[in-house]
Amino acid sequence: MGKDSYEEAMAALEKLLAENGVIEPVAAAAKVNEITAQLTTADGGASISSESVERLKTGFITFKREKYEKNPALYGELAKGQSPTYMVFACSDSRVCPSHVLDLQPGEAFVVRNVANLVPPFDKTKHSGVGAAVEYAVLHLKVKEIVVIGHSACGGIKGVMSFPYDGSSSTDFIEDWVKIALPAKNKTLAECSKDTPFGEQCTTCEKEAVNVSLGNLLSYPFVREGLVKKTLALKGGYYDFVNGSFELWGLDFSLSPSLSVKDVATILHWKLY
Ligand SMILES: [Zn+2]
Repeated sequence: MGKDSYEEAMAALEKLLAENGVIEPVAAAAKVNEITAQLTTADGGASISSESVERLKTGFITFKREKYEKNPALYGELAKGQSPTYMVFACSDSRVCPSHVLDLQPGEAFVVRNVANLVPPFDKTKHSGVGAAVEYAVLHLKVKEIVVIGHSACGGIKGVMSFPYDGSSSTDFIEDWVKIALPAKNKTLAECSKDTPFGEQCTTCEKEAVNVSLGNLLSYPFVREGLVKKTLALKGGYYDFVNGSFELWGLDFSLSPSLSVKDVATILHWKLY
């Protein structure tokens, strides 16, 4: 039996409350119900610090007063639907929100954020959350650009550069997820000398991982079709928050519909904007 069912998670929460609180095991189940009910109410529940709750409340009040209520035309349109120009892949890192960095407004970008801004290759049996997002963005929202944005000091990339991948494992999810970027690590190690400082190697890998993700996007049939029909374009980006700079590059190529993914990979040229 897996550990991922909602019922098992609730049972584990009950156990945790009974073990760590002054709650009798019998009362723990009731406490779980109370907490989950509180989480749906305005006060957020007593288990969350009032300071962090207040921050969220004042944040929304500020947004509503300064943005929502001052842009009725925009939010009126968005109430009817969305038609974003971009699909953006960005890291979950709290410092690299693409809406902030690129000043993207609500409705402009369909965003996926994950550890190290990675796009896995097309695979119906793994990482379906990413696949569903790409499928929805391309086939239903008909975005014009998919932009994969890497960044400086990325913990996920530092991870892939550090993990030994020798059969041992020290994490439940992270090593398996970031190994999507292993081709970038291999390229980095091939290009850098042994004397290259680890930080510089990570910077190289951060950018190469973006290219790996762009290459992986080509394994999605509907992405390839969009490229061939020129209804879709792919861009790579790199945000350096230490120096406050942003690089953007794109795929510069001509494709014939008969090309396979392997052929496409051999003719990729990245054009810096
Ligand atoms: Zn990151």
